[in-house]
Amino acid sequence: MRFLAIGEAMLELSEQAPPLWAMNVAGDTFNTAWHVRQLAGAQTEVAYLTCLGQDPFSDRIAGFIAAAGVETRFIRRDPARGPGLYAISLSEGERSFTYWRDQSAARRLAEDPAALSAALSWAGMAYLSGITLAILSPAARDRLLAALARARQNGVQVAFDPNIRPRLWEDAAVMRAVIGQAAALSDIILPSFEDEATHFGDASLADCARRYGAAEGRTVIVKNGGQDVLIAIGGQQIHVPLTPVTPVDTTGAGDAFNAGWLVSHSAGLSPEACLAAAHGLATQVIGRKGALG
Ligand code: ADP
Repeated sequence: MRFLAIGEAMLELSEQAPPLWAMNVAGDTFNTAWHVRQLAGAQTEVAYLTCLGQDPFSDRIAGFIAAAGVETRFIRRDPARGPGLYAISLSEGERSFTYWRDQSAARRLAEDPAALSAALSWAGMAYLSGITLAILSPAARDRLLAALARARQNGVQVAFDPNIRPRLWEDAAVMRAVIGQAAALSDIILPSFEDEATHFGDASLADCARRYGAAEGRTVIVKNGGQDVLIAIGGQQIHVPLTPVTPVDTTGAGDAFNAGWLVSHSAGLSPEACLAAAHGLATQVIGRKGALG
């Protein structure tokens, strides 16, 4: 398998003993690529497509990605831009995030159509999220979606997590329309029910799966925190109850779940076995601090 994740990896600052801060690298699609690399065997290649600057901090992100065993050959460099950054604040055990990503180089990840098609002709599976699309200009979104549609015609599987973040989008109507377009050209869709219910008004997990085209042959896996997961495949629906656990930190649970699902799916495992792997990994991640590990 050749797994290509597309999106933004950012610098992450987390406070240690004041005044010291630790620096790491994370970002939804990158977290999934990182877990896929950890889970999959040596015959699987994993690459990350993004855009970074040419500054020392961009070099650190590229170094981190490479050290994780993830291919960096599809990472463009834009000398006019720098990396995105976020910081985690802890207040009475609650984490909150502050972002500096408005001008990040990753917003230019889909500027070069030839680079997109080179990466997609390498890939067997392409993975992106609603965040990947939210950070792009309207023209770049169209370019990326068109490249994905062509790749799919050539046999590339497309996997998509809507990962709804209204603050990253210019308005809610555009957000819903573009997420719908991306889902329409995806084979596997991995939404989280709470976000979908809030922003699309789905009344149930089955509603969400239906809206994302489960009846038209797409595989839709609707996550719902510690509650039931709905797996909709080829018109068939499987509800799997989970046993909720008390999380230490839920950051990156969905990203890890997606990695577990996609690696198991690519290995040809049954839906139940894919879910066990996905949920098992997500449970490990919520039992520890940080999105990775
Ligand atoms: P996201 O990070 O996208 O918001 P969810 O909160 O829907 O993702 O959770 C993703 C997956 O993580 C769930 O499907 C489940 O497997 C696992 N998970 C999340 N929260 C819990 C919990 N409290 N107990 C058990 N599993 C959980």
